[in-house]
Amino acid sequence: MKVVIIGSGAGGLTVASNIRKYSDKAEITVITRETQVAYSQCAIPYVIGGEIESFDEIVMHTPEYYGEHGINIITDSEVYEIVSSAKFVRYRPNNLKKTNEKDLDDVVNYDYLVIATGGSPFIPPVEGTYLKGVFKVRTIEDGAKIKKWAEQTKKAVVVGAGAIGLELGYGLKQLGIEVSVTEMLPQILPRSLDPDMALKVQDYLESLGVKIVLEKALNEIIGSEKAEEVVVGNEHIDSDLVILSTGIRPSIKLAKQAGCTIGNMGVSVNERMETSTPCIYSVGDCVEVYDGITGQKTVSPFGTTAVRQGKVAAKNIIGRDAVFRPVLNSVVSKIGELEIGAVGLTETSAGLNGIDVIIGRSKALTKARYYPGCKPIDIKIVCNPEGEILGCQIIAKETVAERVDTMALAIAKGVKCTELTEMEFSYAPPVSMVVDPIVLAAENAIEKMNNRI
Ligand SMILES: Cc1cc2nc3c(=O)[nH]c(=O)nc-3n(C[C@H](O)[C@H](O)[C@H](O)COP(=O)(O)OP(=O)(O)OC[C@H]3O[C@@H](n4cnc5c(N)ncnc54)[C@H](O)[C@@H]3O)c2cc1C
Repeated sequence: MKVVIIGSGAGGLTVASNIRKYSDKAEITVITRETQVAYSQCAIPYVIGGEIESFDEIVMHTPEYYGEHGINIITDSEVYEIVSSAKFVRYRPNNLKKTNEKDLDDVVNYDYLVIATGGSPFIPPVEGTYLKGVFKVRTIEDGAKIKKWAEQTKKAVVVGAGAIGLELGYGLKQLGIEVSVTEMLPQILPRSLDPDMALKVQDYLESLGVKIVLEKALNEIIGSEKAEEVVVGNEHIDSDLVILSTGIRPSIKLAKQAGCTIGNMGVSVNERMETSTPCIYSVGDCVEVYDGITGQKTVSPFGTTAVRQGKVAAKNIIGRDAVFRPVLNSVVSKIGELEIGAVGLTETSAGLNGIDVIIGRSKALTKARYYPGCKPIDIKIVCNPEGEILGCQIIAKETVAERVDTMALAIAKGVKCTELTEMEFSYAPPVSMVVDPIVLAAENAIEKMNNRI
């Protein structure tokens, strides 16, 4: 069996290594336009900020490593065409990119093809994004260029206050640079947090000296050769480094050309990660998924999602059965000392979907109150009037990820607040409270539900 995978990111390499895990015989070829593979995009902001020493440390494996494990990786090459009727792809090494002669192309046949082309950064259609000193952030190469440019930078603007934008903003501040993070919406972290929770993160960032500019869209970047000024709304901000952290768009070109159905959000796949074209699968940031609560099509541009989808595709390709379920989009981020996590619906997104909700809150501690080093924790849970949990947001300086994960399972299993209060949480003073802060939030929601009746 010949399997060809386009893309060496989290999705593509998960498919490759899982097929190899289950099958000694499969011939696996990965084609990628990058020279480095198997690095952590998620770690790029932490290398820029100096928390991780160098980009070398975030490269997990080399192409040679994969070669030794029977996975042939063709690097620095662009796939141009998928000929699905004859089951082959056409690719060309990047150093021959400029020539148009088709006989310079290489061809590789497949029994199964996986399109794992990821996404490309969205560049706002404004003047000046081509100037020197303006960067997107997607690849390890992008990260290295930003880090180098930052050495000569005094003032920086990060456009986009999602988790990646804030991680980058904090990282640049750590380097002694004056930083503004700008956002066109009225709050930071608009996809994951409600405004009340987002404000707590904003206060923290501002206390560290990161300037947050809200409700101002990028209008222009001004400079003669390199960036000198950023215009957001009517505000001019001096800046010699600009990072556009304005989201990604799924890379669907090849899938479209291969005849695969494309939805509004990305490549259309079924729960086995199969596209509409026979023998072609697709995984990662390029595909659209279903929201586990609203049932609507959405995106899930996370490493975790790409890996889970890659495992499902690999199992189905080698003849086992696996399905990918609708997503709750669990996220967690660490900015400075603060951990921010969320899963499921926010109160805002519930409102936009016409879902009536009750909110439970707790302000508690991460350890017993007398235990040295205990930290405040803020929890907001969103549930429907029947008490079923739909979403949760958590901010604290420790223990956020594990609580978000507990809530992800609770939401996926349709757990109600009452059931959460009956759950057996473990306890010892150095690691938790005798009544877990999640239980306190659920009790608060139950009280509000009772007051409604
Ligand atoms: C700065 C940053 C921080 C992040 N932090 C987190 C985090 O903390 N947690 C989290 O879960 N997620 C995080 N993410 C998101 C996560 O990295 C992505 O969701 C994940 O990498 C998607 O994997 P993928 O395989 O779909 O795409 P990618 O990793 O982008 O891989 C796509 C691959 O396709 C190749 N390719 C595309 N077109 C072609 C072609 N025509 N020919 C050849 N090759 C092609 C590309 O070269 C690339 O190798 C972060 C992303 C960034 C950029």
